[in-house]
Amino acid sequence: MEFIDEDLNQYCEDHTTPETEVLKKLNRETHANVMMPRMLSGHIQGRTLAMFSQMIRPENILEIGTYTGYSGISLAEGLTENGTLHTIDINDELEDMVRRYFAEAGIKNKVKYHLGNALEIIPTLDVTFDLVFIDADKINYSNYFDLVIDKVRPGGFIIADNVLWSGKVLEKFRKKLDKDTEALLDFNQKIQTDDRVENVLLPIRDGLLVIRKK
Ligand code: SAH
Ligand code: CA
Repeated sequence: MEFIDEDLNQYCEDHTTPETEVLKKLNRETHANVMMPRMLSGHIQGRTLAMFSQMIRPENILEIGTYTGYSGISLAEGLTENGTLHTIDINDELEDMVRRYFAEAGIKNKVKYHLGNALEIIPTLDVTFDLVFIDADKINYSNYFDLVIDKVRPGGFIIADNVLWSGKVLEKFRKKLDKDTEALLDFNQKIQTDDRVENVLLPIRDGLLVIRKK
């Protein structure tokens, strides 16, 4: 389900800074050669993440769910001079492609690319994060939040992607309550009632939940 009229969406794209050449190429290559290219953030969401990152100017970013590197490269645009992007993915088949694009985007030396299960890797990171992007398996969104919240500095941000799950969070668009939808419903509700944070759900692409730690 698209949340915004196709023509309006096009108008938004036409009035959003274009993708960088590297991201355009990565977008094309992902669609040509990689399974499930719909998972890639894409033009508007990529620019949104880059814009947030430019606003926050993070020293340390954590991304959970690298995939082909599109969102990571976008988020890295706002890093401080000596800043670091930690990005985690369990799928090592994409490693060569991802490393090639980090190099081409000129961020090779600013990235720590962790291959493995995020549930195991996050506890090993002794870093205070200014910005966390949660975009891996939906089932574990609540676990990822629990694992990162004490590593986020007060005033820092967590952004969670796909929280509208193609509209399936609404009763009328649910065919049956599958595990992913159930997990996202629980996650959104948990954030809404957690006094440690304030949050706003933006209906950008598949839904971005922007969370600020008080
Ligand atoms: N952030 C990317 C898209 C991520 S797609 C973008 O916007 O372009 C989701 C990714 O999460 C997949 O690459 C998948 O391999 C990864 N993933 C799924 N379960 C995981 C886990 N337990 N630990 C780490 N990564 C995981
Ligand atoms: Ca996503």
